[in-house]
Amino acid sequence: MQAFVYQALSQRVVFGFGTLATIGDELGALGLSRALVLSTPQQRASAEALAAQLGSKAVGVYPDAAMHTPTDVTEKAMVVVGQLKADCVVSLGGGSTTGLGKAIAFRTDLPQIVIPTSYAGSEATPILGETENGAKVTKRDPRILPEVIVYDVDLTMTLPAAMTVTSGMNAIAHSVEALYTQDRNPIISMLAQQGIEALVRALPAIRANGDDREARSDALFGAWACGTCLGAVGMALHHKICHVLGGSFDLPHAEVHTVILPHATAYNERAVPDLLAPVARSLGAASAGGGLWDFAQGLDAPLTLAGIGMRESDLDRAADIACANPYWNPQPIVRDEIRQLLDDAYFGRRPG
Ligand code: NAD
Repeated sequence: MQAFVYQALSQRVVFGFGTLATIGDELGALGLSRALVLSTPQQRASAEALAAQLGSKAVGVYPDAAMHTPTDVTEKAMVVVGQLKADCVVSLGGGSTTGLGKAIAFRTDLPQIVIPTSYAGSEATPILGETENGAKVTKRDPRILPEVIVYDVDLTMTLPAAMTVTSGMNAIAHSVEALYTQDRNPIISMLAQQGIEALVRALPAIRANGDDREARSDALFGAWACGTCLGAVGMALHHKICHVLGGSFDLPHAEVHTVILPHATAYNERAVPDLLAPVARSLGAASAGGGLWDFAQGLDAPLTLAGIGMRESDLDRAADIACANPYWNPQPIVRDEIRQLLDDAYFGRRPG
């Protein structure tokens, strides 16, 4: 066993069906009574229903969370937090809503209860990526880690099929990189494998039948496992590229992860085939990178950057930004090879 350091994060996690009913009790346990409920505009009705359920424990709803946590949205929400004298935020939604809650908590240290409805995994991390003037800046701070996560599988039943697949691939990406990151450790590697296995089992089942409750439960468990990996260890090339394509080129987060993951995995598989062998095994594939591409294709997932809004003329600039201040990576970062990776992802070539 190689030497390692493992820092556990302190968080309360409630997992099950129908757990939304417990939010009032969770607030009470923390001594909170003035919750501001956050959502995107698309999930506003759910946020308003939750506020109604909380009665006097909710002071309002802020329904304007947006992808990549733009700071101007956060500044507007901060005014509402002040006006309503909120004593906590309750974030109901995907990673965008969780991101807004984290941005508020970073500025105020207000407690957060997160009710995730996608598989992004942000709820399990002390990481916040904020976008200002076209650049996404990442912060890691104890104030950012939500105090409580309430996973209610029922809320994920409405996640559309396409988003289920891309969000699930986003989760798998956290675990894939956790397996080879510089500060990997045995606990997180075990959790990463469990998370990948749960999602590899669940996603095809949900694709076939969105009402499959067992598969939805497996997928949400996988999302928690993978998100916990993201929160516990550093990430590498894959997350760096996705961060650049999302933050600087405004591509949709989960879709970018889906398109890039097979390519970034194949890039690193040259250096650490042994560490990626569990991924290939879970997929029943000869290689992790090729296996992930085949898995995505089988789920009708997006396979090309061209198809999710990237312009071919931006690939050079994306390669330059991705190679500036690179994260640690098992395979050396070579600008021409990253440019080739982006080209392969742009056109959707299967990694060999
Ligand atoms: P999202 O939160 O933007 O959700 C996409 C859309 O799906 C939204 O309109 C949302 O309202 C809707 N939606 C979510 N759950 C639904 C459900 N169950 N039923 C119906 N509609 C639903 O997208 P996302 O992929 O979940 O999150 C992406 C964001 O999260 C990005 O900004 C990304 O940077 C961030 N993120 C951060 C971390 C971190 O640790 N900091 C980790 C992962 C993702």
